[in-house]
Formats: sequence, structure tokens, C-alpha cells
Amino acid sequence: MTPDRTFETWNPIIGCTHASAGCDHCYARAIALKLQQQGVKLYADGFRPRTVPSRLDLPFKWRRPRSVFVNSMSDVFHPDIPLSYVKRIFHVIEQCPQHVFQILTKRSSRLASLAHDLPWPDNLMIGVTIESNAVRNRLDDLKQVPARYRILSLEPLLERLAPLDLNGISWVITGGESGPRAHPLNPDWVRDIRDWCAASGVPFWFKQHSEYGGRRPPALLDGRFYHEKPNIRITEPNLFNF
Ligand code: SF4
Repeated sequence: MTPDRTFETWNPIIGCTHASAGCDHCYARAIALKLQQQGVKLYADGFRPRTVPSRLDLPFKWRRPRSVFVNSMSDVFHPDIPLSYVKRIFHVIEQCPQHVFQILTKRSSRLASLAHDLPWPDNLMIGVTIESNAVRNRLDDLKQVPARYRILSLEPLLERLAPLDLNGISWVITGGESGPRAHPLNPDWVRDIRDWCAASGVPFWFKQHSEYGGRRPPALLDGRFYHEKPNIRITEPNLFNF
């Protein structure tokens, strides 16, 4: 096992719009609106998607290697973000092989359509979110991406998923929803995913139970934690319910 590294978020884009049911309780939207209320200039437009070019070179300034979650406050593949800007983000990733970057998107069709215009260095993990059966087509889009590491974020898990073909997937993360309006999470839904991962030899990380009911038990499943990860130098899944 390689040593862990510092976790970092990098937000060269901020703002987004609703994509699917997993966005219903979007923490990023709540934070953006709060910052807008507080008069923070960057969030004067609330949650409207926009680029922040002044942040593009941040990864060059981190001297020690880091695990970097890209865009905790947005979606890189949002349709309002021009391809030219997405390319700039990817070129920074390519030029910073000392860091490991994770990108998760719910705009999988745009990801697939742009994939061949972008570089796919080995220090980038690209993933899609599937929170319900209605958006399971995102897995097909992800498989079209010529990346070395493809990850599935099955959170916030909102229902029992029909079996997913994990061929070509490097990592699966799942968990329940956070916040006062969290949907409940049935542990049987998580057991299904754990068992698919075991059958396919895919590392499985169970991040958290739902906060439904106001309290969240430890992330135990059948008496143990599941914190498996692929053999790439990373700390833990993104800290957010993206
Ligand atoms: S959950 Fe993600 S994709 Fe959905 S609105 Fe929030 S930032 Fe955008």
C-alpha cells in the first residue's frame, strides 16, 4: 500500500444547475447561496455556472503531492463551460503528474462526446455519479472514455440499483445522503454493490450511511468498514456527495 497524501479540492469552476435526483439536496448550491447572502464577491451571481481562470494554476503551487478533487462546487462537463476551458483544466492535470486528480460528473453524455478532444493522463481518475436506475446510462458513457482509471460514485444512493456491469471500472464508491432532508438508505442496497464488486474484483468503498432520521451510524456494513481502493496514490473518495 502506498502512503496517503493530503486531500485538496480545486474549483476552477463554480456554480451548476440541477441534473438529476441526486442534485435535489446539492450541498454546493446551499453553500453558494449562503456565500452570496454574505456578500462574497465571487458568489455575487449565486449558483450560476462560471469559470474562475485565476484558480487554474493552483495545482502548480502545491509543492507536495496531493489527491485533488476537481470542482466540488460545480460539474466540469456542465454545458455552459466551453470546451476550450475544459481543455485548460485537463492540461493543468497533465502537467502536474505529482498529484492525483479525481473528476466526477453527472453530465456523462457531454463527457463521452468530448472525451476524444481531451488528454487522459494516468494521474486522472474520471467518474460518473449514478444515484438511481434512471441514470444508469451514465455507465455506458463512462466506458467510452479512454482513461486508465474509471470510477463509479453511487451516491447519494436513492434506491436499489439493478446490477451494473463493472468491467473496465477501477473503483466503486457508495454512500447515503447527508443533511436534514436525507433520503433513507437500505443496507441491502449497499450489500448488492459490495457483492458485485467482490465478484468483479473491483475495490469497494462504503463512505457513509444516510443521515435520515437525524443521526448517522458509523459506516459499518455487516460489522466491518469497506475502505478498499485502487493501487494509485490517493487518500479517500471525494469528501462530498457530488
Ligand atoms: S449535485 Fe453536482 S451536478 Fe448536481 S447541481 Fe450540485 S454541483 Fe451540480
